[in-house]
Amino acid sequence: MMPLKKVFFSSLALMLVVTILASIVTLTVIESNFKHNTSQSIKAVRNITHQAIVSWSQENELHIQLLAQTPEVKKLAEELLAIDRTSGNLISAPAQQSLKQFLSPVLEKHELRGYFIIDANHISIASSRISNIGSTNLIDNQSEFMKRLWQGKTVTTLPQPSDVALQDNNGVFIKNYPTMFVGTPIINAQGKIIAIFTLRIDPTKNLRKILQRGRIGDSGESYLINRQGYLLSESRFDHELIKKGLITSNNRSTFNIQAIEPKEVNASTPLTFMAEQVNQGKSGSNADGYFDYRGKKVIGSWLWDEKFQFGLATEVDYDEAYLPFSKTKQSFAIFTACAMLVFATFAWIFARIYNKMQTNKEQVKTLFDNAGDPILIVDFNSGNILSANKLSTSFFKYSDKTLVGSHVSILCNEDSHQKVLSSFATIRRCGGSLFETTYKNKFGNVIFVEVNAKLVKFNNSDVVLAIIRDISARKAAQQKLQELVSTDMLTKLGNRSSFDKQLSLMLANQEKQKKVVILMLIGIDEFRIVNDTLGHATGDIILKTIAKRIKNAIPDNAYLYRFGGDEFTVISAIPEKNEKPNLCKIIQQTMKTPITVNSNKIHLTMSIGIAFSNGKNINSSTLLQSADRALNSAKEHGRNCCQIFTEHMRYQDEQQFTILAELRNALTNNEFYLCFQPVVSVKDHQLVGAEALIRWQNPKLGFVSPETFISIAERSGAIIDIGNWVLEEVCKTYCEWQTNGFRIPSISINLSPVQLLNSDIEKVLLATLAKYRMTPDCIALEITEGVLLSEREELHQLLMELKQMGFRLYLDDFGTGYSSLSYLNKYPFDYLKMDKSFITDMEDNVKHRNLAKTVIAMANSLELAVIAEGVENQWQVDFLTKNNCQRIQGYFFGKPVKKSDFLSQWATEKII
Ligand code: C2E
Ligand code: CA
Ligand code: CA
Repeated sequence: MMPLKKVFFSSLALMLVVTILASIVTLTVIESNFKHNTSQSIKAVRNITHQAIVSWSQENELHIQLLAQTPEVKKLAEELLAIDRTSGNLISAPAQQSLKQFLSPVLEKHELRGYFIIDANHISIASSRISNIGSTNLIDNQSEFMKRLWQGKTVTTLPQPSDVALQDNNGVFIKNYPTMFVGTPIINAQGKIIAIFTLRIDPTKNLRKILQRGRIGDSGESYLINRQGYLLSESRFDHELIKKGLITSNNRSTFNIQAIEPKEVNASTPLTFMAEQVNQGKSGSNADGYFDYRGKKVIGSWLWDEKFQFGLATEVDYDEAYLPFSKTKQSFAIFTACAMLVFATFAWIFARIYNKMQTNKEQVKTLFDNAGDPILIVDFNSGNILSANKLSTSFFKYSDKTLVGSHVSILCNEDSHQKVLSSFATIRRCGGSLFETTYKNKFGNVIFVEVNAKLVKFNNSDVVLAIIRDISARKAAQQKLQELVSTDMLTKLGNRSSFDKQLSLMLANQEKQKKVVILMLIGIDEFRIVNDTLGHATGDIILKTIAKRIKNAIPDNAYLYRFGGDEFTVISAIPEKNEKPNLCKIIQQTMKTPITVNSNKIHLTMSIGIAFSNGKNINSSTLLQSADRALNSAKEHGRNCCQIFTEHMRYQDEQQFTILAELRNALTNNEFYLCFQPVVSVKDHQLVGAEALIRWQNPKLGFVSPETFISIAERSGAIIDIGNWVLEEVCKTYCEWQTNGFRIPSISINLSPVQLLNSDIEKVLLATLAKYRMTPDCIALEITEGVLLSEREELHQLLMELKQMGFRLYLDDFGTGYSSLSYLNKYPFDYLKMDKSFITDMEDNVKHRNLAKTVIAMANSLELAVIAEGVENQWQVDFLTKNNCQRIQGYFFGKPVKKSDFLSQWATEKII
């Protein structure tokens, strides 16, 4: 493409040339027209002047012919010719007088100077002036003139200086006064020329006027010349001629006849152009200019009158004639100058703007080249690189030549190709795009870049201006940070967050890859005890060792993470059809060998919860929940085992959830009621008390056993209200029974650990008893040994207070949990309730039998009475009786029943 500057200046030059050419052409046309018109005008003036001169001459000739033919002139001429022609005779001859009388009025009338009649001997036989009569040489120097006259022609002479002094207009006689003659023959009756009749004509009269009328402007004049080119009439520029010394001022006539004297005018100067032409008898015009007799440039028109033998020139000074044209020319010159000035101004302005643009362009180019980032300008439609700054070439290791013109995809590696394409789509939609991607340089090295691409107009086309930033350092830092964020510092395993990512990724890909994701949640059993007893530093070493062992044991396609605390996770994905690997076994094997720290050999076990994605559309949190549920299940199943999450577990959980929801309104809906189970004395099988056991009949769930809902109520805190209700209901029943004459020594209620630890139980107890006017000895409080594990001082305090208040305290479910004999000593229990698991197996299990025996013996030695629970047969009753058990509770003596049934069953019994 032609540069703007070139286009502009070419157009400007063209316009300039056209303007100048147009001016020249117009001027030439105007000039030629002007010349033509001027020439025509001058020619017209010349012709008119000529015509006037000819008319005047012809008039003169006509006059003389008429006069010559008059009988008076003929007769008087004959008379004068007849006499002896001496001057005296002629003067005195009467014919002379008669002739004068006849001619004088005519001459006066026509302003003619005088007349001559000349005979064949050139003797003037008659004249207006007496002094001329009889003279012989009168017009001798006019021989040609005379010759032609005698030939019978009428002839007019050219203006010439008079041979005699003549009077001017003022009557003063002047020598060489201009004069002319017109002559004609006088022919007698026989047709013979007898004499010549001439009249003296004064050229300063009519001829001067005619010539003066032929003047154009200030410098124009018409004048007569003879064949030699000498002036025959006066010049308008006499004073100039005098000044130049061409003529002398003295002795000048009005019709400056001296001017025509060859010796005085132009004697040394060559003939003018006009005179040369006239000299050759030619007529013509010249509008181009030639130098006249004054040496001045004139234009003119001239002719040669063959008849009268004079040349007539009509001239005007070139300068004056061409003044209008000169003015036009001047105007044109001004116009052209103005146009050139305008063009020059345009050119100047353009040059300035262009230079500025050029400077800007250079600045932009400098900025472009020196930018701190690689910049590419890419054609939006083709994707070809249009321009690349210096840094781009060093950045991508390509030469400028290779880069420019190549498609932008040469910078893309496989990963980024799609990104670049989609960025173009975004650019089209939004006008720009900021994205991170990877490019590759000439040598295939991948570079992390951030591309800020914008759609801009450049030279009227859409281009993408892409500023590329090398973010390799940032990426490296990010990666480092990512490592820090995703790594567990202690074990160097992936941490919770990287676990989350990996799990989500594997779940997202499982369907496509037709795989099942296995998630294992590993908990180190009793790790809290290790930490508490051996210290955290040892705990850390153990965790590191465990991490290393598991990592080394699991296959490569399984990923190990530290989940937090003493929990680890393993994720693995296996093809759907493959048999599931026994990772559990592999992991548990790692704990076979004890871990040695500071010469301490530590034996540890693991509980593992496993969940499978099973190709289902399952999310990571659900899968994790499942594994966690399975881990809890493993822990519930006595630890050191694996539990796979089952649908039943989910069902249980759901059930629990429903129970929890239903429990909220169970109290207000009166869904609870109490059953009472008798406790009898071993000694005589008499009723010594009853245990209040809660029942829940829910309209949606039906009957829900306390073993199911109590734990849920404990977790939700609902147990406190429920417990209070039980207490109230027991007190109410106790009073009712009393009112009915049935007096039972005491009714025991089960106190949940939650009640004990989180409520003002003693205040509630006292307040309720007070309400029913009962004493604490009517109520026994059953407390499971689990609550004692925490060994908190305030619990001890509480139990002591309750004891002091007069409540009986039962240690419930003894033998199920962490039975410790120390509790028996420490807390002020009245009775120990031996769990029914002892009793149930007793008959078949010697171990249980011995255990039961020991418990009873030990309790008794500590002055604790024993209540055996779950007694269902006679054998058990006998055994317990034999082994000094104090009380028995069980189906054998009575199942828990509603209070009315209890009353009807036991009211008749003998009450101790
Ligand atoms: P627990 O305190 O050990 O109550 C004794 C349980 O053994 C009762 O089950 C009772 O029905 C059952 N039982 C008694 N004799 C026999 C027998 O000869 N054979 C068999 N197989 N079972 C016998 P229940 O009523 O289902 O109560 C279960 C547990 O629920 C109770 O165990 C107790 O821990 C809790 N519980 C019951 N009522 C309440 C309550 O009002 N408050 C609180 N906190 N817990 C309660
Ligand atoms: Ca109980
Ligand atoms: Ca019990």
